Amino acid sequence: MQYYQNGFKPGDPTDFRATADSAATQLLVDLPEAVDVLIVGCGPAGLVLAAQLAAFPEISTRIVERKPGPLMMGQADGISARSTEIFQSFGFADRVLKEAHFLEAITFWQHAAEKPDQIVRTSKKADGRNVFSEFPHVVLNQARVHHFLLDVMQKSRSQLSPDYCRNLIGLEHQKTPRDARSGDCYPTRVSLARTDPDHEGQTEVVAAQYVVGCDGARSTVRQLLNLEMRGDSANKAWGVMDLLLVTDFPDIRNKSIIQSANEGNLLIIPREGGHLVRFYVEMDKLKGSERASNRNITVEQLISAAGRILHPYTIDVKEVVWWSVYEIGQRLCDCFANISPQDSDSGPPNVFIVGDACHTHSPKAGQGMNVSMHDSFNLGWKLASVIRGHSSPEILHSYAAERRAVAEELLAFDRELATMFSVQEDSSLEQGDRLEATRLQQYMVKHDGYVSGTLTRYPTSQIVAEPAHQALASGFEVGKRFHSSPVVRLADARPIHLGHVLEADGRWRIVAFSNREDPTGDSTGIRRLAEFLHNAAESPVKRYTPAGSDIDAVIELLVVFQQGYRDINMQELPAFLSPSKGVYGLRDYNKVFCPDVDKGNDIFDERDVNRGKGCIVVVRPDQHVANILPFDGFADLAAFFDRFMIMQD
Ligand SMILES: Cc1cc2nc3c(=O)[nH]c(=O)nc-3n(C[C@H](O)[C@H](O)[C@H](O)COP(=O)(O)OP(=O)(O)OC[C@H]3O[C@@H](n4cnc5c(N)ncnc54)[C@H](O)[C@@H]3O)c2cc1C
Repeated sequence: MQYYQNGFKPGDPTDFRATADSAATQLLVDLPEAVDVLIVGCGPAGLVLAAQLAAFPEISTRIVERKPGPLMMGQADGISARSTEIFQSFGFADRVLKEAHFLEAITFWQHAAEKPDQIVRTSKKADGRNVFSEFPHVVLNQARVHHFLLDVMQKSRSQLSPDYCRNLIGLEHQKTPRDARSGDCYPTRVSLARTDPDHEGQTEVVAAQYVVGCDGARSTVRQLLNLEMRGDSANKAWGVMDLLLVTDFPDIRNKSIIQSANEGNLLIIPREGGHLVRFYVEMDKLKGSERASNRNITVEQLISAAGRILHPYTIDVKEVVWWSVYEIGQRLCDCFANISPQDSDSGPPNVFIVGDACHTHSPKAGQGMNVSMHDSFNLGWKLASVIRGHSSPEILHSYAAERRAVAEELLAFDRELATMFSVQEDSSLEQGDRLEATRLQQYMVKHDGYVSGTLTRYPTSQIVAEPAHQALASGFEVGKRFHSSPVVRLADARPIHLGHVLEADGRWRIVAFSNREDPTGDSTGIRRLAEFLHNAAESPVKRYTPAGSDIDAVIELLVVFQQGYRDINMQELPAFLSPSKGVYGLRDYNKVFCPDVDKGNDIFDERDVNRGKGCIVVVRPDQHVANILPFDGFADLAAFFDRFMIMQD
């Protein structure tokens, strides 16, 4: 899609009516006295959490924000493949991909050996991040991501909308363990100052079962919990500008890293719409007065610095859409909740911090928005499961345990990248040598998988089993996200990505990969598995699905056969594979799949699933693989869920 040719406009680029999102249109209503979950902050972390919880109308959720309305432009823009996988689970990946710019190539520029005041391209290569997922690495304004998440919330069965003009100023919390199922215990009191002109000076107090501080790098929730950020005491400053411009720089539509000899470093990110471009100018690499005047620097100075770095190429800026001096240090909070996993004897946590509130780092690797959303996606299903009385509150400790390790890794990565970004390559090298990959290039290529966000592996815990049977399917690594692959839906022969069936609806999945046998026989492995899940007293489906709910409301069985879709008749399979649901008892045909052999995609080969034995892959509601078991490992399957789930009446 091409847009912004005649100037930037915030909001939906395909909607030429006046923007309906602005602060002026926000309806302000009073908050209830008590809620199950109070989310503080409408950044990407808060909105992903709110979108996830909005899927459960039985949970009362509110999200408060001190600003008067939604973000309309600026801040982060990089969207990793893993984030788009998560957007797919919310149902809006296609909208993001339609608007976003795809980062297909990356270029590296340095000063010319013989003419230090001029830059030359040292390398141009395909962006290696696009092989880790069915989704590419793209860029889109953070405000548009917010918009899509708000849309999910508003159209959900909870019809959740943010409560703007609320500034959190106080938080009293008790660390008493409690029974989350009782539903009448709201141990945390939150004070919110109203900032809208009609209510200025008024304070609201809301009692909450759970409070989640998604309130950014200067988090008040974090401060009120007396949690400290540790790390570099000094902030690094970046001049960041979103521009519409005319230039002869040949790589303006590719991500470009430019290290000049004496004028500083520039990172160029081409943006959505075909014309918009983001410039990051590293401030402490600037000369003299510009570096000294971080806080007072003007956009004209930033543009002039960018122009000097790009010499001999020129820029003619037509419109500055947004600019900021983004000052950030590399810092990490000791604990991401009011009770740390090491202090689990004190009971489960009930106040959490998420996203920039617990980790900050440079924008170089484009991870700020992504990692913050992934934090929330990790926490959201756990909160929902505990509040709905499906899981033991103990699982809430796993949020801090799993996500702090990810943040630690991110900071180490960012620190190393920052060092390499700043170090000039040896300018005495001949041009031929300089065309070889530099250390910075090598480092970035080596870490493409990491930056794609798809390599995160959660360690063994109550909700992630020991990978004792990993060899049965080495392409679905225990602890990592379920790596999707194309399949064909048996009922209607529709090609589909198996991972796209795993929606953000809080359900666990048992994905059964059948062995080679004909599945329609009388005593097949799939018949025994269906019989166990449907009728056995130890079946996790029987034990943990509340009476009156659909049979797949908590744990869903998905099956992949090795035969092609022409070889199996749906009616000859156990009825449990297409259960009757809803008021009419209509059958659900979205559970049985075959390899997409017509297009050469065989999921058994792609994910190295043992064809002779088959296997069971247990997938968490956040799409991470929790366990791999033999196809007939019924006792182990039951024991796994027994570790953390609560028996239903
Ligand atoms: C000005 C700015 C520029 C940035 N530029 C870049 C960039 O160029 N590139 C990049 O990669 N990243 C950038 N970032 C960082 C990136 O936006 C964050 O990493 C990402 O948004 C983190 O998401 P979050 O939800 O954790 O926090 P945030 O997006 O910071 O959201 C926190 C929200 O909480 C609200 N809030 C704060 N305190 C309270 C309170 N007491 N009561 C109620 N609400 C509160 C805030 O108003 C805000 O809406 C920028 C951030 C900022 C603030």
